[in-house]
This record gives sequence, structure tokens and C-alpha cells, in this order.
Amino acid sequence: MWSFVLGTILRQWAFLAIEFLVGSKARRNLNVSRSFGDDALGYFTARLDPAPTRVALAAVLHRAKRNKAFEDCRFVGLALDGTTGGRRRKKGCPLCRPHRNAKKEITGYRHHLVLASVVGGDLILPVDVETYGPGDSEYRAGQRLLARVRQNLGARFIDYVVVDGEFATAPFLHTAGKAGWPVVARLKENLPELLRAAEKRFRSRPPALVFRDNTDRVEIWDADDFDPWESLQWETVRVLRYRQHKPDGDVVEAYWLTNLSSRRISRRCLYHMAKSRWHIENEGFNDAKNRYGLGHIRHHHERSLLIVWLLTCLALTLERLYRLRYLHRGSHPVRAAINLYRLLLLTLSLPVVADSS
Ligand SMILES: [Zn+2]
Repeated sequence: MWSFVLGTILRQWAFLAIEFLVGSKARRNLNVSRSFGDDALGYFTARLDPAPTRVALAAVLHRAKRNKAFEDCRFVGLALDGTTGGRRRKKGCPLCRPHRNAKKEITGYRHHLVLASVVGGDLILPVDVETYGPGDSEYRAGQRLLARVRQNLGARFIDYVVVDGEFATAPFLHTAGKAGWPVVARLKENLPELLRAAEKRFRSRPPALVFRDNTDRVEIWDADDFDPWESLQWETVRVLRYRQHKPDGDVVEAYWLTNLSSRRISRRCLYHMAKSRWHIENEGFNDAKNRYGLGHIRHHHERSLLIVWLLTCLALTLERLYRLRYLHRGSHPVRAAINLYRLLLLTLSLPVVADSS
């Protein structure tokens, strides 16, 4: 497991690459006691129980909080989002979901997961994943994930949940409510009545707030007395609309719904909470897929896929806490992930010096 975590941090995630590392002279510096083949990793991940890794992830986050990693951050969020993992021509495990073309013919199989990340200031820390196979859905997986994170992290760790429009359904919002967490969700066409009502109301009004967010000018519309749709057991719904004017003339507009009251959370704060949703896109999936191989299947087995995804989360969370918080204690600026990675690579070839202090 240690080799796997190291391999992820060193961006050598393929099992063959890990086999090469632990079989090389670098093994002493990696603190791995013996070499092994890539098949051992396949065998190992297919038989590992995911529960202890999930508990370990929660423990890392609790320790980070005790050590004041979130000190500068007023509100800590939990961002949930779904994505596609490995693609395969042929069905190979119970998680394989058929992918169809326009004629409804099966053209291949894909793997799907929902990722939960803790979002607080500059920290975006993946905390758990939930898979869903054929016959299941992203939004049901999201509810299971939410309930488990609530159990492993506790209610008080999180101040709010932030999600995209497909999670903005009554059962999901109620699950979050049961966990004790308010939700900030994107308001899209899947809730046409509420969206029309908000568009109508805000169109005829000047913005309630205008401010600068770095180089952008942001206009905010906000009202907290919209009617909930029929199945939603909220008293009222608060809707926020922002128009973000970029320096190049581009305008980004979005609607968000929430049950955070305007007495408790200011417009500006709510805007930043909504924006934290994009972190999971950029520093969750994009980073994990492009740099840490999240989208690749290493061993096509249901359990192995889940374990690999969970251990990738663990490695990413450890790397970010170490780099952004622990290493920051010196006088040097915070290192970029790529620079720490290069430094680590360079030290692999150095002779080990015994430190007797
Ligand atoms: Zn599969």
C-alpha cells in the first residue's frame, strides 16, 4: 500500500512503473522493504477491504483540522461530483456500464464514480468515492456517499455541501438535511418552474450587490422567498444569480439555490461557496486524471478499481496537506505540485544518509 501511495505522489501510477521503482536502487529511498511484481499489486488491490482506507482518509482530515489546516477558512464545504473512469471495449466487471451511440447500440463500457472533496480555502482534499454500476445512478451513489462521509467525518466538520444541478432533487437535498448540512446547488433546466420564477423576478431588478473578484466585476441578485417545488420539504428556497464580467468582455452567468438563510450567510459569501464547486472540477478530476492516472484501469476488477480510486484520493490529500501546510512552515513560498514532484524524483537517486539526530 505504501508503494502504491508513493507511486501516485511520484506520478508513476501504472503497476509496471511501481514494479520498476521498487525493483530499482531507489527502493532504499522509497523505504520499501522488498521488491515485487505488478501482478502482486493487482492481486492486492482486488482483495483489500475499502473500509480501512476510507477511515484513514477521514482520520487524515480530522488530524489536519486539529492542526489548524483550515484556520484561514470561514466555511468548510463538501463538493460532490460524478465522473467517468476507465473505458473498455468488452464488459469485464460488474461496474462496467454500457455506453451507447445515437442508434442505441453498445459501443463500449465505462466506469462511473462520484467523488467527495473537502473544500476549504486553498485546500481541496478528496475524501471518499462511491462507484455505481448498471441500473444504479450518479444521484443515488451521491446519497450513499453523503451518508458515509457524514458517518466518517461527523456533522461538524462540514458547513455546507456544494453540488451541480443533477443533484438538486428533493431526495438528495433531504439526505443532506438529515446529515445536518445545508446545500448550495446549481439551479438548471431540470427545475424549470423555479428557474423561470427566478429569471422573471431578477430580470426586472438591478443587482443587489456589485463587487470585484480579482479582475472580474461581479453582479449579484438574491432573494430567499421562492416557493419550494412540490416534493421539497423546505419552507422557502433562496436563489442567487451571479453575472461575472471578465476583463476580455466574457460574461459568466449562473443560478444557484440553497437553504442557507440570508440572515446567516451574506450574498458575497454565498457566491464564494457556489464558486467552490468548480474547484472539484479543476483540482479534483482534472488533476487526478491528467496527472495521477485516475481515468486508467490498472487491474480490471470491481474491488481493485475502487481501491485504486480511494488510494489515489489518499495520496492526493497527503501530498496537498504536506505541500501546502507542512512545507509552508519555512520561509520559502508554497511549492507548486510539479516542483515538489521534481524534487522528490531527484532525491530518489541520492545515497541515503543516516540521520542520527
Ligand atoms: Zn468493468
